[in-house]
Amino acid sequence: MFSKYLEETGQKKFRINQVNQAIFRDLVSGFSEITTLSEHLRKDLNENQKFSVLQKTKHVRSKDTEKILFKTEDGKFIESVLMRHKGRKTACISSQIGCPAGCVFCATGKMGIIRNLTDREIYEQVLYWNRVLKDEYFAECEKKGEEPKWNGKNPPHEARVRNIVFMGMGEPMFNYENVISAIKFLNDDKKFGIGVRHITLSTVGIVPGIEKLLEEGLLINLAFSLHAATNELRDELVPMNKTYNLDMLMPVLDKYTKKTGRRIFYEYVVLKGKNDRPQDAHDLGKLLQHRMAHLNFIPYNVNPECGDDLITPDEPEMRIMQNILLNEYDVPSTIRMTMGDDVDAACGQLANKEDKPENKGKILSVSEGNFDPTGQA
Ligand code: SAH
Ligand code: SF4
Repeated sequence: MFSKYLEETGQKKFRINQVNQAIFRDLVSGFSEITTLSEHLRKDLNENQKFSVLQKTKHVRSKDTEKILFKTEDGKFIESVLMRHKGRKTACISSQIGCPAGCVFCATGKMGIIRNLTDREIYEQVLYWNRVLKDEYFAECEKKGEEPKWNGKNPPHEARVRNIVFMGMGEPMFNYENVISAIKFLNDDKKFGIGVRHITLSTVGIVPGIEKLLEEGLLINLAFSLHAATNELRDELVPMNKTYNLDMLMPVLDKYTKKTGRRIFYEYVVLKGKNDRPQDAHDLGKLLQHRMAHLNFIPYNVNPECGDDLITPDEPEMRIMQNILLNEYDVPSTIRMTMGDDVDAACGQLANKEDKPENKGKILSVSEGNFDPTGQA
């Protein structure tokens, strides 16, 4: 990292702050643009440091969703998505290349795990989107004939990412240290300045990871990928349930709500004929009543590689489930609009089709003891 390099080469703290300000707040697109530094230092940085570790390869846009495909330095591909709803910009970012958890409906899961992303590879996804938004803001000002009011310390709020969700490729709890380090960068006022309440980590439910997060005191939002309210059904859809089942998970999730005072978002990918029956709604109701919970129904996005027996549900079935939950158990829910379907960027579709066969990873399992859930891959 350049700040470590600057430190090691004897630069003073204020210099390092200047570089951080230029990169994270002013969003320069190269060391040469950091005009607060001497020409000599800019040259030194250009020669000895990489400005970016992710290379943009493809950028696809649709109405309110954009997807970028990045190439890593070792030639792998990762994806990241920007969603715009009502002016709010949310970046959906990846934490791993592939994922070892193997949920039956997930395209990333079908890739297996290739490797963990570094903290820098994680936060650079957000840096990229911030630069896109800054360029857009400048273009918009020019169109309107207005002078841009750009101030890196406090940029116009429409011109930066406001929310982060770890719902791209990978299971963040399997890359715990790097994800936490990236979150600290994102949260740091001198860097991205995104509040913990605007950062959501989505997990398939890795008990030691959630426990560690509790100790961390970094009170981000938690989304838990539930998908089934009984262990029997969950075992079928989410293989990780055989390692960390609902009886182990619910108490630790309760501890999380108690500590943060905030509800947990329960994600539920709806599969026609599998988990969309009224009985499933009753099971969900029994599990979630009296808990600080919000349920998100996510209609299954078709991934051909996941097989023909997985089918997108119909809306009426989901409405019936919603009504049962609300009227009989007082559990609020939403049916999540599927954003980004047309650019293959919707949740769970972030497998990269560009990847070569030799890059395919292995589907590992914690129960077989060949993947450390809290450590590095
Ligand atoms: N590994 C983490 C975060 C990444 S997955 C987790 O599982 O929570 C982010 C979300 O996308 C999860 O809720 C996941 O269940 C959902 N998802 C995966 N495949 C999907 C699909 N085919 N259709 C709709 N949502 C999907
Ligand atoms: Fe991994 Fe999440 Fe996909 Fe499951 S849904 S395979 S945990 S990325």
